[in-house]
Parts: sequence; C-alpha cells; structure tokens
Amino acid sequence: MIYLDYSATTPVDSRVVDAMSPFFNASFGNPSSVHRFGQIAESAIDSARESVARVLNCKPDEIIFTSCGSESDNLAIRGAAYAMREKTGAKWILASRAEHPAVTKTLEHLGKYDGFLIEWLDVDERGMVTPEIVAKAICGDTAIVSVMYANNEIGTINLIKEIAEICRANDILFHTDAVQAAAYLPVDVNELGVDMMSLGAHKFYGPKGIGALYARKGTALVPHLTGGGQEFNLRAGTQNVPYIVGFAEALRITEEEREQRVAHVQPLRDKIIGTVLESIPDSRLTGDMESRLPHHASFAFKDVDGNLLLTLLDAAGFACSSGSACKTGNPEPSEVMNAIGLSREWGLGSLRVTLGKDTLPEHVESVLNTLPNLVEKARRLK
Ligand SMILES: *Cc1c(COP(=O)(O)O)cnc(C)c1O
Repeated sequence: MIYLDYSATTPVDSRVVDAMSPFFNASFGNPSSVHRFGQIAESAIDSARESVARVLNCKPDEIIFTSCGSESDNLAIRGAAYAMREKTGAKWILASRAEHPAVTKTLEHLGKYDGFLIEWLDVDERGMVTPEIVAKAICGDTAIVSVMYANNEIGTINLIKEIAEICRANDILFHTDAVQAAAYLPVDVNELGVDMMSLGAHKFYGPKGIGALYARKGTALVPHLTGGGQEFNLRAGTQNVPYIVGFAEALRITEEEREQRVAHVQPLRDKIIGTVLESIPDSRLTGDMESRLPHHASFAFKDVDGNLLLTLLDAAGFACSSGSACKTGNPEPSEVMNAIGLSREWGLGSLRVTLGKDTLPEHVESVLNTLPNLVEKARRLK
C-alpha cells in the first residue's frame, strides 16, 4: 500500500515519539502541581512553548496549546469575536468560502446561535482570496477576518501578508488557519503580520490531537473552554504534556528540514501534475500551478465519481483522497469545488494526491502508471 494522502495526516516522526515518551510514565506529573513531579512537567511545557515561539518568531506567552487545529480555529474566531463585540460592538465576521470546516462551521454557529453577521469572501477560480476582495468587504463593524494560509483541498496559497496588512491598517483582527501550510511554508508571524494563527501537529509529522494558537500580545480572547487557569486562562484543562512536547519537536524538525523537504516533494509533484494532465482526457488541475503547496497535486476529472475512483485506487494499493479527509461518503461536490466555480460533472470527480518525506520516485511512477486506467474504469462504471 502506497500512502499519498499526507495532507490528511502524516506518520509521527520517530524522533518526535522519542521526545514524547518519557512524559507518559517516567515524568508523568501534572504541570500545575507544586511538587517536583509537577515542576518537571511544567518545565517541559515551558521549553516546548519557547521552542515553538522560536520557530514562529514570537514570545512564548503568545502560544496557547490546544487539542487540535480545529480547536485553535475555534478559540481564535470565537474568542476574538466575543471579545471584539464586547469592546467595540463589532459583529461582522468575514471568511473565505474555501475555508476548512473548522472555520466555516464555527462561523455558521456564531451566526445562528450568537447573533454575529457573516460575510463569505469569494475566491477566484484558483481558490485565492485576493487582497482587493478583503479591502472591499471590511467595514467599521468588522470584528475579525479569517483567511487560510494554504488550502487543504486544492493546495492554493493565499497572499496572507498582503491581507494582514489591509486588516491591520483598518484595526481589524486577522486570523489565518495555517494547519495545512505549516508543513512547508514559513510561519514567522511577524513576517506574515497576522494577529492569530492556528497550527495542528499531525500535518507535520507530530501526533494527532494537539494544536496551538498563536495570538499576538494584546489580542483579547474570551476562553471557550472554562475551568482551571491553564494556558494563560485561555484554555482550561490539564495540559497534555507528552503531546505538547511532541508538537514542539515536530515543528522544530519541520523548520530545520523545511528546505530539503520542499526540494524532495516539489519535483515529484510537478511530475504528477504534468503527467496526469497530459495522459488523462478531460482532466484539469484544481487550484493554482504557481501559488501552491509543494507537496500537493489536485485534479478534477469530468464525469467521474470521485469516491469510486478512491475505492479503485485503494484496491490497487494507493491511498489518496478526494479533497478533504472529512468529506468521504458525501455525494455532493465539496464547498471548495463550488467556490472555485466547478460544475457538478467536474466537481464530483476530484482527486487529491499529496506527498511526504517518505514518498519515493517509484511510488509516483507506480500511481502514474495506474491512474489513467482507473479513471477510465470509473467513467465506464458510472
Ligand atoms: C487538518 C486541518 C484542520 C483541522 O486540524 P485538526 O488538527 O485535524 O483538528 C484545520 N484546517 C486545515 C486547513 C486543515 O488542513
């Protein structure tokens, strides 16, 4: 079985497992305890926070550990929306139509149950939110803008720095979901100019179930998980010490190896894109060729049932995705396919092939030899 779904999740790096393992038993203390067991756990979290802050180029107390990327998105958007409304009365929240459900569902919820007003920002055919669209949409009553750094389904990278600048000039909070981007793109928050940024470890060879939110100092947040005073009173609950240690180590290694990882996956990805578009009739690339995650190839095939294609690929020994891992079993085109303007006959036939540090040229050869036949078969079976 060949794994080509690194945007859904990645295996945990063995160096990360090694860093985590003492904190399951030998050093098992509660970081809030006063005694030495607690001190050891607390100091592990402190070191992890410092390490993450070094990578993001921020202060350690601007990092809040959460249970996953989704929770980071929730804390950022809910927390800032409530705080901004309390402070200024602002009640508009803006986000792109191509966001991950962790963002879109959160906005829908805030609209339905909390009286916030939601404006969805259009994306162009590449899936990009242009800075002009943001500039046009914001107003004095905007509390927060959220635009993802890179799209999980189609790999498109947004102009985060430019969008952040527009928000800053208008005194509006800007959040970016960088869960997909962090594996390959620079995450220096000062360079990017963002107020808040969400991360999740399992997209960069860390464990599932641990995330972090960067929140610039002075960003008022209302906690959505209340209880003890952990994480600067922003996220109650005894910290998951081994996973926090794992998050930090995975991010540190990712930063260190970023260039070589990009150099490894990008030519393989280009080969996939070139060969698929050349050898499969009625195929197109989704997302942009230039502004694209280096490990990410995504396509739409006309008149193909995407889920059937995935099943055929699985039977042939290849693990791929139709876009978002959360979408399996859904017979409708994804929101992202709709947002980039694909018709139903194209939008249902999406395929995402995402590479990682263990992907070999033979794997790519092998899937490229098989895919044209499987697409043809899926068309016949439709
Ligand atoms: C995976 C992903 C998430 C959710 O992260 P979890 O850690 O799985 O909750 C959010 N946004 C994007 C863009 C993602 O790719």
